[in-house]
Amino acid sequence: MPGFEVFGEEEKREVLEVLDTGVLFRYEFAEQRKGVYKVAEFEKRFAEYCGAAYAQAVSSGTAALRVAMAALGISPGDEVITQGFTFVATWEAILDSGAVPVFTEVDETLTMDPEDLEQKITPRTRAIIPVHMLGAPARIEEIVAIADRHGIPVIEDTAQACGGTLNGRHLGTFGTMGIFSFDPVKAITTGEGGMIVTNDAALYRNCSEFHDHGHDHNPELERGLEGRRFIGFNYRMTELQGAIGLAQLAKLDDIIAAQRKHKAAIRSALEDVDGVTFRTIPDPAGDTATFLAFFLPDGGTARKFKKVLSEEKAGAIYFKENTWHFYPKWEHLHQGLTLCRTGWPFKRSEAGEALRYMPDNLPKSEAVFDRLLVYPISVKMSDDRLETIVSAVQKAASVVL
Ligand SMILES: *Cc1c(COP(=O)(O)O)cnc(C)c1O
Repeated sequence: MPGFEVFGEEEKREVLEVLDTGVLFRYEFAEQRKGVYKVAEFEKRFAEYCGAAYAQAVSSGTAALRVAMAALGISPGDEVITQGFTFVATWEAILDSGAVPVFTEVDETLTMDPEDLEQKITPRTRAIIPVHMLGAPARIEEIVAIADRHGIPVIEDTAQACGGTLNGRHLGTFGTMGIFSFDPVKAITTGEGGMIVTNDAALYRNCSEFHDHGHDHNPELERGLEGRRFIGFNYRMTELQGAIGLAQLAKLDDIIAAQRKHKAAIRSALEDVDGVTFRTIPDPAGDTATFLAFFLPDGGTARKFKKVLSEEKAGAIYFKENTWHFYPKWEHLHQGLTLCRTGWPFKRSEAGEALRYMPDNLPKSEAVFDRLLVYPISVKMSDDRLETIVSAVQKAASVVL
């Protein structure tokens, strides 16, 4: 997921334009900034790119989740359903909103299992956050259909699938809101940064005001005289980030095209191996190709296969052991570790009522991950590197299978 691989003159030119004005703030300074509004321009272009009516830039993908939930009015005690394979940010933002994260299994799409989602909806469910993991779409149409039937809003966590589509429509635009991340390792990066897209004018207005201390952004008034409809916080993006984002967004389609080419080269070697199967991707044409995920027949074989790949200098990721992304490995969640003196957000009342998350709650996901190996795909992969991976795969197949 490597926007940083393609930094060039375009990013430098954009950043210098901002420095020449001396204005790093996205609002105010009308005279001094001489018409340069990088964040506002980035929002406009991003909304157009995705085919959404509105886009709100924020300081990170985590902030985007937090602001989206604030816009929906998510409150302490509400349940918010997400999946057990995601970056920790998704459920951190749920807890930070006061709400209770509920985790679904993932299936061979490596994203939310719609059947398990249906099981986990309760009268307290106030939002559903499916995550388009590892660059490819979730079963988002099924998930939105279930959510609609229950009248529950969907926030698509599209942090890892910026530019991805399903049946020609951009990921992030199926749900009530979609969120994106531009952190240093994402498909396009602004250092830190995030975006929320929506077609709902009222929710957009909530996001815009909440992320900026509640300022009502009344165009008739000076900033210091504005009113507030509610309290907010500071999740603003700076002009430097907006500038880099504009240059990166212009490169996104080329980034995806290069990754698709490299992914296809490695995949074709694996296709020839009996016993290897691939992650289910609801619409392969909409895959951003940041990762290639494949299955071995069982866990023992997967671990042996992985060992040979490492020996051949073409190591793959075994996400089952990954402490950042997979539910059974989130020890701070299972142990309810918090800096809060009172034990919040795990301990919920004086009576001792507490949230408990057991590491073995998601057996179906564990069975899927037991057999799973993943290659990260880059924009720049030399023929030599691709050759190394392809021959490592062939070696592993001959030794292990
Ligand atoms: C990166 C990421 C986030 C958080 O984004 P940041 O910009 O790093 O705060 C949220 N969800 C997922 C799935 C991510 O991969």
